[in-house]
Amino acid sequence: MHTVADILTDWYDRNGRSLPWRETRDPYRIWLSEVILQQTRVAQGWNYYLRFTERFPDVASLAAADEDTVLKLWQGLGYYSRARNLHAAARQVMTEFGGHFPDTFEAVRSLRGVGDYTAAAICSLAYDRPCAVVDGNVYRVLARLYDIAEPIDTGAGRKLFAALAQETLGKARPSTYNQAIMDFGATLCTPTQPRCDVCPLAEQCAARAAGTIAERPVKKSVAKIRNRRFHYLHIVCGDRTVLHRRGAGDIWQGLYEFPLVESELDAPELYATEEFCSWVGNDWKLLGKVDLPKHQLSHQLIFATVYRIEVPAFTPEAAACAVPIAEVGDYAVSRLLERYLLSK
Ligand code: SF4
Repeated sequence: MHTVADILTDWYDRNGRSLPWRETRDPYRIWLSEVILQQTRVAQGWNYYLRFTERFPDVASLAAADEDTVLKLWQGLGYYSRARNLHAAARQVMTEFGGHFPDTFEAVRSLRGVGDYTAAAICSLAYDRPCAVVDGNVYRVLARLYDIAEPIDTGAGRKLFAALAQETLGKARPSTYNQAIMDFGATLCTPTQPRCDVCPLAEQCAARAAGTIAERPVKKSVAKIRNRRFHYLHIVCGDRTVLHRRGAGDIWQGLYEFPLVESELDAPELYATEEFCSWVGNDWKLLGKVDLPKHQLSHQLIFATVYRIEVPAFTPEAAACAVPIAEVGDYAVSRLLERYLLSK
């Protein structure tokens, strides 16, 4: 009788998607593709992968770049901590591993931003080590295949699924198996409307027999969404404007943006706040106001307005971050602001 691993790898041999990072065994490129594809659709990640490998063909060139260059290249992908970690880990490879990408699970796992999933993916795809990956697709496929009601977002659940994934892993071709189960989850055993009618595992699928497909996998917590109200001050003085670099401890760390006042207050009360006055001063003219489409992040919903303001002179705070308007496009900004800048 064929094992689940046999059926999946056989399915993959016939149906696997051809993607640029699957043509290589270079651990650097595999790592790059894995980081880019976390939280990103393949169609969008593809261009970024090509752009990164062209600009930084190896780990040494990525390590030698400055952070602003890496963030600018990453612009539009979101979850910018991935780019910062990527850059820091490249430097770690240079300093701690003599420029050679590590080749054991523990050493790969020690790189900045690399968790169990990414370490397993790199070790199996680059070195064919028997390390099972567990991502959202794998949770879904296994939860349905074995009809598991244990929530996937608890310590016990994660342990159970990790063990099951390792048990199901085909030892003969771990690299192919890992790609197969992820592709299978992404294209056939999808979150809604899985294609059970053409599924090669349909006979073994316990959730199908039990009629519980729609309830698998189970999640314990429902993510809470936080609403935030942003007021961006697009201050113009002659041919200069103001761009401020975001600090640590919040979204979009290290990216640039117009001075931001985060407040539930709206105009005219907003204009009297200390923060607003410190950026704009007392002598200013409102040229226009644009409400941006609401911006959804994984746990936050941002409601932003941009105020276009003309001033005869910058306040000291604004002057410290003034830049030529013609150079605004050189700075890495969030996708929210990028859309505003492109629409002007
Ligand atoms: S039968 Fe349906 S639910 Fe079960 S593994 Fe196949 S696609 Fe997924």
